[in-house]
Amino acid sequence: MGPGPGDAETPPGKSFKPRPSSRPVGARDKCGVLGVSIPGQGAAPYLYRGLRALQHRGQESAGIATSTQSQMYHHRGMGLVHEIFDPEVLEALRGSVGIGHVRYSTTGSSSPENAQPFVVGTGSREMALGHNGDIVNYLKLRRRLAQQGVEFLGNADSEALGEFIAHEFARSRDMEAAIRRAMTEAAGGYAVVLLHGSRLYAFRDPLGIRPLCLGTLDGGMAVSSESVALEMMGGRLVRDLRPGELVTIEKGQLLHSSQVPHPSRTAHCMFEWVYFSRPDSVLEGRLVYDVRYRIGRLLARESPVPADVVVPVPDSSRPQALGFSEQVGFPYAEGLIKNRFVERTFILPDQKRREDEVRVKLHPIRGVLENKRVVLLDDSIVRGTTLREIVAMVRGAGAREIHVRVGCPPIVAPCYYGVDMKQRKDLVACGRTEEQVAQALGADSVHYLTQAGLLEAIGLAATNLCLACLGERYPVPVPQEQHRFQKTLLEF
Ligand code: SF4
Repeated sequence: MGPGPGDAETPPGKSFKPRPSSRPVGARDKCGVLGVSIPGQGAAPYLYRGLRALQHRGQESAGIATSTQSQMYHHRGMGLVHEIFDPEVLEALRGSVGIGHVRYSTTGSSSPENAQPFVVGTGSREMALGHNGDIVNYLKLRRRLAQQGVEFLGNADSEALGEFIAHEFARSRDMEAAIRRAMTEAAGGYAVVLLHGSRLYAFRDPLGIRPLCLGTLDGGMAVSSESVALEMMGGRLVRDLRPGELVTIEKGQLLHSSQVPHPSRTAHCMFEWVYFSRPDSVLEGRLVYDVRYRIGRLLARESPVPADVVVPVPDSSRPQALGFSEQVGFPYAEGLIKNRFVERTFILPDQKRREDEVRVKLHPIRGVLENKRVVLLDDSIVRGTTLREIVAMVRGAGAREIHVRVGCPPIVAPCYYGVDMKQRKDLVACGRTEEQVAQALGADSVHYLTQAGLLEAIGLAATNLCLACLGERYPVPVPQEQHRFQKTLLEF
């Protein structure tokens, strides 16, 4: 069985301070996964570097598992990657193959027992698993396993997936067959790395909702949620895993690739291009930076407005603001400066504290904003709480008019595939017109990018993208009990 709370994963004398588990204000990154196999070299230092490149995908916990021919080593903790690992810990993680994970909880609470990689016994040796995404029939899988005597340490869907694979492996002694069985039983969006003995396995859901790519690395191979981690480890992107693909890597070589039955369409998450992925990552052959720049140009064409300056909400809206500015021909300016040492904003109990928090994180430059008609560019609006504070801040710095332009169509429905947008009542666009959203934000106008504009910017058809949070058309049906379960977790 895998380690539980209090298990001796952390070296004696080291204590990790749990971070607050308050729910955040905006849509949060999901998780990031990583795997490397490099003959003759230690995997852990590579994984550490790669995980730091994926830190934006999850800041609650992180972990690494590595393996030699005979033994598995693992270490997990709550917090940021550099807080969890130091040279001593990395040195103790032996072996030339390993996986890594950064987590932000979407199903399952934020707690040490839900930190990943999960380590599960499979008879003579252990297996470790790292998962990004949400399994929508997780409760069914969990119930079935519980009836067969499996005990769970936490409440994450990833643990159920790991236990399911371990259970199948115990029957067949064939890991690829066990994974393929799990891929046909588990529904939802997932990208998974799995370590078993000297082999690294990586697989992706049949619609390709969650991203996962394959690369070369110093004579070996690596897999990652985003190509930027491959590059930051010193490797190169080869290709994305195909939807429903399972790859097996050993001693730095791709041993085998297979695909489970998959529909003719795909459903890549549009939000990866809009907000989640780093601008220097390439997803499905499209540089995220280029897509965001095109979004800005298209937004300017769709909803032009006379103004003096285009100001991005930092950091992720900069390429969009640049595109907007170049399309309309009036200047781009940094009117809001981000404090680089403040990592996150939490839901705080009262208005005053929320305002204070945003003001610690961002500061307006009066000289840029005063007496100006400002186009304020944001990549997306989920709840709108932070943006409302920002609009007030820009107004307070003397802006004459504030026109909000949003690089994503209105988000009106929850996500069940791994993004923390779970309740309709939290979504500011749900049931509101653009005029009503402008009123709610205190802006002079608000315009969202159209869905047609989004498809043009990404360069994929609607039948190749997941757009469920924009219009309730879920590419993988979500069981009623999962709706209720997520509601219970949120209320809890
Ligand atoms: Fe991405 Fe939205 Fe689909 Fe969730 S519902 S996977 S956020 S496009």
